[in-house]
Amino acid sequence: MTEQKKKLEKLSGVKGMNDVLPQDAQLWEFFESTVKSMLRSYGYQNIRTPIVEHTQLFTRGIGEVTDIVEKEMYSFTDALNGENLTLRPENTAAVVRSAIEHNLLYDGPKRLWYVGPMFRHERPQRGRYRQFHQVGVEAIGFAGPDADAEIILMCQRLWDDLGLAGIKLEINSLGLAHERAAHRVELIAYLEQHQDALDEDAKRRLYTNPLRVLDTKNPALQDIARNAPKLIDFLGAESLAHFEGLQRILKANNIPFTINPRLVRGLDYYNLTVFEWITDKLGAQGTVAAGGRYDPLIEQLGGKPTAACGWAMGVERILELLKEEQLVPEEEGCDVYVVHQGDAARDQAFIIAERLRDTGLDVILHCSADGAMASFKSQMKRADASGAAYAVILGDDEIANGTVGVKPLRDVGAAGAKSEQQTVAAEDLTEFLINAMVASSDDETD
Ligand code: ATP
Ligand code: MG
Repeated sequence: MTEQKKKLEKLSGVKGMNDVLPQDAQLWEFFESTVKSMLRSYGYQNIRTPIVEHTQLFTRGIGEVTDIVEKEMYSFTDALNGENLTLRPENTAAVVRSAIEHNLLYDGPKRLWYVGPMFRHERPQRGRYRQFHQVGVEAIGFAGPDADAEIILMCQRLWDDLGLAGIKLEINSLGLAHERAAHRVELIAYLEQHQDALDEDAKRRLYTNPLRVLDTKNPALQDIARNAPKLIDFLGAESLAHFEGLQRILKANNIPFTINPRLVRGLDYYNLTVFEWITDKLGAQGTVAAGGRYDPLIEQLGGKPTAACGWAMGVERILELLKEEQLVPEEEGCDVYVVHQGDAARDQAFIIAERLRDTGLDVILHCSADGAMASFKSQMKRADASGAAYAVILGDDEIANGTVGVKPLRDVGAAGAKSEQQTVAAEDLTEFLINAMVASSDDETD
């Protein structure tokens, strides 16, 4: 008996993987609808790929010597068939895989976008989670700096649409493979001179991926990184022309930027343009979006050589920023809460609620919490708490008279006073509510 009474232990979610609770849903929906309308305005098409991919896609696509592949991937063996699988840590490789697999590029370039959860085994902290969300775009089949400029302009438009000011753009060029190779020789020689001062990560990368030493987050290495040979000094005419082409379009569109010679990005597949959008309002996790050109990737994943560029933005970081800047949209309740008492009233309440929904109104129908009929008073409390604009009230009297009670629940009119309950003929209810709502929204805009 005592065993049965013992309360079961509460379960909690996985560390670094967060629930989005209803109180934040408004903010997520505001962000998602703003971003979708921005993407539509540039002619982007949505693509949805699975959350799980073959591990090989990421080791080949992202590069073996990167934070992600070295230590951040959630990889596992499928117990049923032994396949090596990974929860996607990013989505560019998967979008490219899909585009190649389904021959999406056969009739020319494609502008694609995605949104969804990504998974990286990092130390959870503000703005850094193990499951987080990215919105991203991939412009596949475009070689010129005009495509780079367009995807950057898209970010600026999104910041404007969201009301976010002060997100700064940094750009750089990683040049072409042979230019990076020439730079690499000098960079290694330089880093060898400072070998004793290098940290574990930098020592390990010295010969495998020395460029990555430049974007170290270790404060002790900042001076060494700052004074290292700059890749930009190794760029040839073609790379410089591309970089200048981008800058020309950005300037013509009044997009301020700074050139950051140490901006190299974490992933191996980038070439030519790279960029980040950075805020100083989120502490260390200040990069809200990052991207660039990844011309070598499509061939690397088995497709025909195809130029491409894209970006990914961290949704949680942008939402944090919206909260920080107090740009959270106001919570909106639904239009109507239907209160009813008695069997006949309940049957009629269902019919009325469906009829109101037919006209486009959002309606909550009172349902009992414990199976018993609640008093009008307690139902009205729920109606008030729901944030609905109106309560529609049905009892025995209303059923007998063919009427309904209508009570405004929010402050109505300039005086801010709630007006009283009115009796309305049941067949006039829809018209009455719609007129009342139009009148009160006119009031608000006055
Ligand atoms: P960082 O240097 O901060 O680790 P990154 O180079 O790993 O960033 P990208 O792979 O370029 O990041 O991802 C693009 C964007 O996704 C980042 O700029 C950031 O806004 C977001 N992001 C990346 N990792 C996380 C994470 N673990 N939690 C939340 N957002 C993230
Ligand atoms: Mg990272």
